[in-house]
Amino acid sequence: MINLTIIDALKKLKSREIGALELMQAHLDRIEKYNPELNAYITVTRERALNDATAAAERIANGTARPLDGIPIAMKDLFATRGIRTTAASRMLENFVPEYESTISQKFIDAGSVLLGKSNLDEFAMGTFSKTSYFGAPVNPWQREHKLTAGGSSGGSTSAVASGMAMGATGTDTGGSIRFPCSITGLVGVKPTYGLCSRWGCVAFASSLDTPGPIARTVDDAALLLSVMAGHDAKDSTSAPNAKFDIDGELQPILGDGKKLRIGVIKEFNSVQISEDMKKLFEQRVSDLKSMGAEIVEVSIPNVLDALAAYYIIAPAEASSNLARYDGMRYGLRVEGVDLEDTYKKTRAAGFGTEVQCRMLIGTAVLSSESYEVYFMQAARVRRMISDAFNNAFDKCDLIVCPSGANTALPLDSDLTPLEYYALDLFTVAMNLAGVPAVSVPCGLASNGLPLGMQVVGRRFDDMRVLQLAKHIETAANVDNRPTVIMGE
Ligand code: GLN
Repeated sequence: MINLTIIDALKKLKSREIGALELMQAHLDRIEKYNPELNAYITVTRERALNDATAAAERIANGTARPLDGIPIAMKDLFATRGIRTTAASRMLENFVPEYESTISQKFIDAGSVLLGKSNLDEFAMGTFSKTSYFGAPVNPWQREHKLTAGGSSGGSTSAVASGMAMGATGTDTGGSIRFPCSITGLVGVKPTYGLCSRWGCVAFASSLDTPGPIARTVDDAALLLSVMAGHDAKDSTSAPNAKFDIDGELQPILGDGKKLRIGVIKEFNSVQISEDMKKLFEQRVSDLKSMGAEIVEVSIPNVLDALAAYYIIAPAEASSNLARYDGMRYGLRVEGVDLEDTYKKTRAAGFGTEVQCRMLIGTAVLSSESYEVYFMQAARVRRMISDAFNNAFDKCDLIVCPSGANTALPLDSDLTPLEYYALDLFTVAMNLAGVPAVSVPCGLASNGLPLGMQVVGRRFDDMRVLQLAKHIETAANVDNRPTVIMGE
C-alpha cells in the first residue's frame, strides 16, 4: 500500500478497495520499522493520525469526501501545529507547543489529510544536509550501507516520502531546501511563486525568501498538494492577492501534437563544474524535450553566479532580525542568568546551535552601519538585477531548465567547509531571490544508482506550466522511485 501514489490512493479509497484506517496503519507500521534508522520524524503523531483517519473514513463512507481525505502526510516541523510540539529542530523550541495552527497545516486539516508527524530539518531551516538539526540528521533511504544525506533543510520530509513513511510532505524553500533534498532522493519538489502559499504560522528564517511548498513522489501528486496549499491569506502580508492554483484531475501535456514551446537553457551555468552523470542526464532530458517538439534556446542571466553571495548576505540579515524574538522571555528555552542581559546571553548561547549563531553574527554584521551600504545594499542590487534578468529571459523563452545540483547524495559524514556547503545552493538560490516558481523533478539515475534531479523554472505565477513541463521530464526519465524498490519491504 505504501507504494501507491496519492492520486491512485484517492481512487482506491473512493472505490472502497482500501480503507483510510488501513492506509494510515500501513504508514505507521513503516514508521515503526524504519524511523529509528532514518530519523525522518522528530515527532510521530499516532493518536492524531488515528483520529484523522477515522474522520476521513466516515466522510468517505457518507459521500462527503474532501480533496485529500485519508492521505497520510508529514508536516515539516517548521509549521506551527496546535497542541503538537513544533521545534524547528532547535533546542530553543524543544518543548514549544503552539496554541495556534499555521495556515498551511490548517489547509491540510481542511482537505482531510492524515497527519503522521512532524518531520526533521536543519535547525531553523539553515543548512543543506539537515545535519544542523538538534535531533540528529535524517538519512537518505536510497543507500543503507553507508549513511547518505537526505538533503536539507527539508531532509526529514524527503527521507519520509522516499522511504514510504508518508505519501507526501510539506517543505519550505528559502534557498533550495525543497528542490535540493528532492533532487538527491528521487522526489518531486515544488518551490512555488513567492506569495502563492502562506507563510503564516511557519517559523521564520528569511521572510522575503521563505516559500512553503509540497514534496511528493510524482509530479501529479505534487500538483494536487500544491492546489491544497495555495491561496491568498490576509494573515500573511506578502501573500499575493491573486494567489490561486486550481487543478482538475491530472496535469495536461504542453508538448506534442505540434504544440509550440520555447525552453531556455541558462548560458552562465555551462561554466559550473558538475558531475559527468548530471551533465549527461541533463543533456539527455533536454534532447528528449527537443524531440517532443520544444525549441531549445540559450538565455542569459548575467549575475546568476553572484546569487550565492547575495543570498548569503540577505538570508542571514533577515534571520538575525527574525531570530531576535528568542530571548527566553515569551516562549522557548530560558536559562536564568544573574540579570536580564545575562539571561539573554545564556538563553541564546544554549538554545541555538553553531550554524544558527554563525548566521546571526553574519546577519548582524552586514546590517551594521559600517557594512550596510557595501554588503546589504549591494546584495539587494544584485537581487534586483537577477530578478530583471529572469524577466528578460522570459521574453525569449516560455520556461527554463537547469540542473538542481551538481552531484548525487553525499555521505552524511562528508567533511565539507562552510563555504563548500553554501556552494551546494548554486543552482537554486537565484530563483528564491527572483521569487519565480521552480520545480525539481528526477531526471534519471547516476552510474552509482542514485537519483539526480533537474529544475523547471517559470515566470511568476506560471506554476502550472512549470509542473506541466516537469511531468514530461518525469515521463522521459522514468525513474522507479517506489519505496519498496528503494529500500525493500
Ligand atoms: N541551504 C540553504 C541555507 O542553508 C537553503 C536553506 C533553505 O532553503 N531553507 O540557507
